[in-house]
Amino acid sequence: MAKSKPDVNWTNKPRSEDLPQPWKILRCSKSGSPRCMILADDVLGCYVHYWGGRTRPCLRVGCEPCDKGQAPRWRGYLPVITATTHLTRLLEVTGNCYPEIERWLGEKGSLRGLVIELQRKGKVANGELLCTLREATGFASSLPSSPDVAPLLAKLWRLTHLALPTEFAADTERTGQTRIPPAAFGHSANGNSAGGNPA
Ligand SMILES: [Zn+2]
Repeated sequence: MAKSKPDVNWTNKPRSEDLPQPWKILRCSKSGSPRCMILADDVLGCYVHYWGGRTRPCLRVGCEPCDKGQAPRWRGYLPVITATTHLTRLLEVTGNCYPEIERWLGEKGSLRGLVIELQRKGKVANGELLCTLREATGFASSLPSSPDVAPLLAKLWRLTHLALPTEFAADTERTGQTRIPPAAFGHSANGNSAGGNPA
């Protein structure tokens, strides 16, 4: 009886999901988020569930958490660059943050270049999110361009392209580090600029 052939999957490049992911989700820890600068003009969000130990989008049709009675909650994602470590992240915000976001959108027409800081009410892990936006002190012109957030989230959530809005068909994720002077983010009184969850 012939033995089956060895089947080594030789390749000169890992699959894209095995490469370093430059756009991880950043959630505010109980000690607050690091200071970040927003790269996008507006926030992009969707309704999600915390289910099976992780956040995942509500798929509406045939959505298991919905079918089991869990109401989906809105989460927004802002592509940002962290002030001191210059990491690109998708900062997660809640509906509670939205009035502050909306106020700045009304005033400026865009969030790009604004500094954002999140705090947890009561400094507890699941405390309500408190959001502060403010103008950066210069340097906004040297910001990297904003990625398309939906394809990045779809990739992180391992969704197929079928779940993407058509205008987000192209995956334009950026890689690499960027160089923004820390002064652009202003100086925080307590110097806590790199705390938070590096998720
Ligand atoms: Zn659902």
